[in-house]
Amino acid sequence: MKGVLMSGLRMSLCSTAIVAAGLSLSTSAQAQDQEEPLTLFTNVHVFDGVNEQRIENASVLVEGNLIKAVSTDAIDAPNATVIDGEGRTLTPGFIELHAHLMLMGPTLPAMEANTTWEDFAIHGARMAEMYLMQGFTTVRDAGGANGGLRRAIDAGQIEGPRYFPSGAFIGTRGGHADFANFTAPPGSETNMSRLNLAQEVSGVDDVYRFARNNFRMGATQLKFMQSGGVVSAFDPWQLLAGSPEEIRAAVQVANEYGSYVMAHSYRKEAILSALDAGVMSIEHGFSFDCEIAQVMNEKGAYITTNLTAFDPGLLDIPAVANVPSSLAKAKSASATFAGYIDNMKECPVKRGFQTDCVGSVEACNIQIAYEKHLNNEFFGPYTSMVTLTSTGGEVVALSGDFMNPYTAGKLGVIEEGAYADILLIDGNPLEDFSVVGTGDQWFGADPRPESPETIRLIMKDGVIYKNTLD
Ligand SMILES: [Zn+2]
Repeated sequence: MKGVLMSGLRMSLCSTAIVAAGLSLSTSAQAQDQEEPLTLFTNVHVFDGVNEQRIENASVLVEGNLIKAVSTDAIDAPNATVIDGEGRTLTPGFIELHAHLMLMGPTLPAMEANTTWEDFAIHGARMAEMYLMQGFTTVRDAGGANGGLRRAIDAGQIEGPRYFPSGAFIGTRGGHADFANFTAPPGSETNMSRLNLAQEVSGVDDVYRFARNNFRMGATQLKFMQSGGVVSAFDPWQLLAGSPEEIRAAVQVANEYGSYVMAHSYRKEAILSALDAGVMSIEHGFSFDCEIAQVMNEKGAYITTNLTAFDPGLLDIPAVANVPSSLAKAKSASATFAGYIDNMKECPVKRGFQTDCVGSVEACNIQIAYEKHLNNEFFGPYTSMVTLTSTGGEVVALSGDFMNPYTAGKLGVIEEGAYADILLIDGNPLEDFSVVGTGDQWFGADPRPESPETIRLIMKDGVIYKNTLD
């Protein structure tokens, strides 16, 4: 309840009308206190999302949808449902910071040409369920989803993680979010623009218009496309799309809503100009180096990177290998991105987990498991666990008090007052990372189970979605 009270108090700085709303919220929440169900986890070792040392032989009490207590002393809660963890590790639910739950592929032109809203919705619903069963209790969507999926999840119509959509990609003509047919004139309506999955902007007025529309349609933050891509049609990966004024216009609108901008940025020039404009979340950021790290740390910015981009087998992927223009782009990109891992080790910044899968549910399940695996390969289990939990929680909180739908507690940590988003995992992921559900193969991998066997219990918002302990 503390979180509700605090957000009530923070809001009271702005207007008395909101104070009243804040107070009535907390009063009604307190009135419900007596009826909130209690769950007591006993005999668990807690990875709290931050500290490398687990809290050993602990108990965790959940009241309603929040964590009420974490203690190495026995917790007295006679009315609680007791779950004996039998020495397993209790961790925060995982947080994915860069997904595209609506985009089923197989290619961007196919989605533009042949896809209806039903296709997107059904794919999104299935992706949401898959993510939750892989242990992700929060997903930030990096473009192509509005507020509808979250409404359905939060209303209990479908099962899925907490959800932070970005609305339509905001991108320039010929940029990475331009899905229009080859001969379509600039500014043409497209399948993707009609459904507000992607919008083409030309000038700051367009940015204002579509950015505000995104928030109106349920976005929690904005996504701006600066750089190009490797398998997309019109854009060199080195593209520097978006004038400083256009990027600043996106930041301006995000700030109107107390939120922030995430930018798809590859080249150093793109990353630095995004940071200069006030972008808080650098996506991909493959040209990351120690100079960028310094600017990021000064600004308190974050980076999320799909490490599959550094996979040695990348050049053999059919979508790359069979398309000469893509293969040439991939080769030059790989050469430029070669320093990322060493630079991140030398000058670490706050880095969140991202998979960036566009494709079938089954393929994304494999890619997520492989992305987990690569995190551990490159950065080891402790850094990977922080990346998957508390850093993600910090990033989604940047959406602020007005647009963040989940302000009653922190995400990505196990502590008093945090949301009860909890996993119980066999073994110790800080010693054997595979227990979080890794996969050591990407293309050609066998289909993965609906949920990793070693993740024995999945709780989101105090509700248990999986429990194989009995
Ligand atoms: Zn993406």
